[in-house]
Amino acid sequence: MQSDLAIARSAALKPLDEVAASMGIGPDLLEPYGENVAKIKLKAVDELADRPPAKYVVVTAITPTPLGEGKTTTTVGLGQAFKHIGKRATIAIRQPSMGPTFGIKGGAAGGGWSQVVPMELLNLHLTGDMHAVTAAHNLLSAMLDNSLHQGNPHDLDLDAITWRRVLDVNDRALRNIVVGLGGKEDGVTRQTGFDITAASEVMAVLALSTSLQDLRRRLGRVVVGYTRAGDPVTAEDLQAAGSMAVIMREAIKPNLLQTLENTPVLVHAGPFGNIAHGNSSVVADLIGIRGGDYLVTEAGFGADIGGEKFFNIKCRTSGLRPDAAVVVATVRALKAHSGRHRVVAGRPLPEAMLQENPDEVLEGAANLVKQIDNVRLHGVSPVVAINAFPEDFASEHEAIRQVAEQAGARVAVCTHFSDGGRGAIELAEAVAEASAEPTDFRFLYPAAASLREKIETIAERVYGADGVDYSPAASRQLDTYERNGFGDLPVCIAKTHLSISSDPSLKGAPTGWRLPVREVRANIGAGFVYPICGDMRTMPGLGTRAAAMSIDLDDDGEIVGLS
Ligand code: ADP
Ligand code: MG
Repeated sequence: MQSDLAIARSAALKPLDEVAASMGIGPDLLEPYGENVAKIKLKAVDELADRPPAKYVVVTAITPTPLGEGKTTTTVGLGQAFKHIGKRATIAIRQPSMGPTFGIKGGAAGGGWSQVVPMELLNLHLTGDMHAVTAAHNLLSAMLDNSLHQGNPHDLDLDAITWRRVLDVNDRALRNIVVGLGGKEDGVTRQTGFDITAASEVMAVLALSTSLQDLRRRLGRVVVGYTRAGDPVTAEDLQAAGSMAVIMREAIKPNLLQTLENTPVLVHAGPFGNIAHGNSSVVADLIGIRGGDYLVTEAGFGADIGGEKFFNIKCRTSGLRPDAAVVVATVRALKAHSGRHRVVAGRPLPEAMLQENPDEVLEGAANLVKQIDNVRLHGVSPVVAINAFPEDFASEHEAIRQVAEQAGARVAVCTHFSDGGRGAIELAEAVAEASAEPTDFRFLYPAAASLREKIETIAERVYGADGVDYSPAASRQLDTYERNGFGDLPVCIAKTHLSISSDPSLKGAPTGWRLPVREVRANIGAGFVYPICGDMRTMPGLGTRAAAMSIDLDDDGEIVGLS
């Protein structure tokens, strides 16, 4: 098969106004950015509001290997497949971060014959939204440090400043830094650090805002630290929120692209799934839900992470209710969940994993069963998508089908990677059936529950933990947040995506363990409290074989090595 980049280059793109028209959006609502990308004006949310809503479908997965099991590829394949059964679909996904694009994972435009195009634009700067997030975030950092330099009128406690800086580059050397070195005029010396832009609270604000005014208000509520008396100091207090909103004014408009088969794709916001809430924007979904029969959106990583956050954070904010959830499963990941193999990013699969072995797939099945349950916990109908890889055997697909059916889920084998939308027709039909059923969607916990109750509910019911252990620091932070009136917010747990537990080496559906909460941050602007479990890093590093080492320009100025 040709490379993703070669397939993407051979695509017959349609003019973007035709793509927009296929989701009922006229040229008056488009702002073209070059030939193949446009932003959609925010007034589309209100102008389309009286159209009938599409069925709302979220794509999540079993616990992946570090290679990814094809959520984006399946989201795109499913979106394309609806056309083959005479339905109109819109796709909504996140904008890839350039950290992983140049780090280990490569791009995130889908793959094979299920891709979003132009993939070069998608994977790189697109319309600059990521840079706007970075700039807005760092403007607040600069204004905070300036306030300290100008005599600290807000009485910020230097040891209780929580606002850091961000950059969309995997740069481990910036995790911990000292600012304000030099003379008196060079600012107040203090220790701080950088996170990746995808972990910025401004990114979460962008993803969760329902309008420009809402974005402005949320930015104002961002807490940067605490006074010596323990009271929160906000971006509003620093008079920074207005300028931050101005920087974000274009970024809040969703970007319209298309798939290889010309299905409309809204690409907007890019919070990571493990260290942030892992879902594309609410605004894009408020527009996409008016675009036809189905809106298909991806939630980062497994159903325990992106799925749980989609249900309890994103849907709570948007007011939209899902009609079905796709759980992507692969032979390779279930074999890995048997505990017999170790899959390492950037390396080929171990030889022993390539043998026909349905029993090994069954040994790993506990993970699939638990992730199906995690969807059901929210009252949503699960559909298992078996994402077929070239090295799979039919007997292994059959094993997954058996497990899924026994767990009471609909299931379809799909070949959209090699066949495009036509390879996911069975999946589209199963999703159509599931979403035609009456829905019984429910949040896992009420907003009024305490923060500890929320964390414990997720840990025990979704992760299968026996309980939660808080570090003394985490306990103090939770007390502070409850005291400051933040207790009603949902929680966004940062934990490894490589296990349902907080230990990446535990496969399957681990039991007999407790969730360690090391630290708790508060993203008051975005609207969630953010417990960090285990050794999670909010700034990734580069490995020995960074993707950036093989990306280049050819003699014609075309990009090579991007995958
Ligand atoms: P996720 O969104 O779950 O992280 P992606 O859709 O980005 O996963 O897929 C991860 C990688 O696997 C990509 O490089 C993609 O091209 C590749 N891939 C996905 N599905 C298949 C498949 N069925 N066959 C071969 N490669 C695939
Ligand atoms: Mg993805």
